[in-house]
Amino acid sequence: MTRDEQLAFVREMAGRAEPDTVIARELGVHPRTVLRIRQRNNIPSLWKPPAANTECGRPAKYRRGCRCPECVADHNARHAKGRVKRVARRDTAEFSHGVNGYSNWNCRCPKCKDEAAAAYARQKAARIARGATR
Ligand SMILES: [Zn+2]
Ligand SMILES: [Zn+2]
Repeated sequence: MTRDEQLAFVREMAGRAEPDTVIARELGVHPRTVLRIRQRNNIPSLWKPPAANTECGRPAKYRRGCRCPECVADHNARHAKGRVKRVARRDTAEFSHGVNGYSNWNCRCPKCKDEAAAAYARQKAARIARGATR
């Protein structure tokens, strides 16, 4: 493939909103090379990251570390749903008692209560040690 062909290929792929990584794979070059070709020839990439990764209130965004109110609310809602389902089958399910049982299964047997209390005390102590106010 000549440089011109390569350039035409990059131009076409970028115009179809293909990410540099895909263009690079097709050309058998490093994505950085594609980026350089685009920059040198003023070819903007129409590629956008998938909305699922960038929009707040989506699981992927939370997983990427966003803790804005919207993401936290979404995460908590999903978490709560899972918990309700788990609690519904708690009596027949096998799960390890302790902190996991207490917080995920809503189990209040002595083992779960004791271990959860100890864990929360440790977390609280750690927060205070970090200088947090809560
Ligand atoms: Zn967010
Ligand atoms: Zn338990």
